[in-house]
Amino acid sequence: VTCDEAREALELYVAGALTADETRAVELHVASCRGCRDDLAALSAVMVGLARSLPQSVPGAAVRARVLDATSPRGEETARSPRHVRRDYTGWLAAAALALLSLWLGADSLKLRREVTALQSELADARAHVDASNAQIARLQSTAARNAQAMTVLTAPDLARVDLAGQPRSPDARGRAFWSRSRGLVFSASHLPPLSSGRTYQLWVVTAAAPVSVGLLEPDDAGRADAVFITPPDLATPVAMAVTEEPAGGVPAPTGEKYLVGVPAAGAS
Ligand SMILES: [Zn+2]
Repeated sequence: VTCDEAREALELYVAGALTADETRAVELHVASCRGCRDDLAALSAVMVGLARSLPQSVPGAAVRARVLDATSPRGEETARSPRHVRRDYTGWLAAAALALLSLWLGADSLKLRREVTALQSELADARAHVDASNAQIARLQSTAARNAQAMTVLTAPDLARVDLAGQPRSPDARGRAFWSRSRGLVFSASHLPPLSSGRTYQLWVVTAAAPVSVGLLEPDDAGRADAVFITPPDLATPVAMAVTEEPAGGVPAPTGEKYLVGVPAAGAS
């Protein structure tokens, strides 16, 4: 085997695509030829690099089978002589180029996939940010609406004020109600003790006939509750207001302990 023939066969040798005889011939030559030995070492390094750059999920054997498939003669001959090696060399090169190209494309698409994943995560962050902003805007809008409603009540010509005092269960608690038959009720309380879960504070307007539920109070951690309620326009004149502890969700008629009680000043309608 001459140097030229050996060099042409080296890549097939590294790919394991030579017959046993051809392999022996190449090895014999390489053993005695420094130049071809260097070429073989360089080529092996390239092939090792290629193998390492393959994705983990692609078995080396499958790639090898594809390359061999693309380079094998059209079936009539199984044993390949050096002449065949030369004749098929261009085809093998094309196959190798394709293999390289697909590796590069694979690496590129891996990079693209990473970039897409990063972008998707950024998009999710942006969406979460927008959701948080929308929630904040909704809270502000509801606060603004409540303040506007409270202002409407507080400027009503038929406004009446009721001060509520703490009870044995809540000696420090204080409450104040501003009620307008035509516009509604503004209620504010402080120092309401925390309730166990499943319990709630409920505000009542006590009339001569019966207590009427105004609504539920949700005190903050400091025991402060501010709320604006719509009251029925045909509500009978209150004789008292009270806050009781009730099961979560409230009840139609008071059942629990009183925490705040107040009586309207004389002259309130
Ligand atoms: Zn040589």
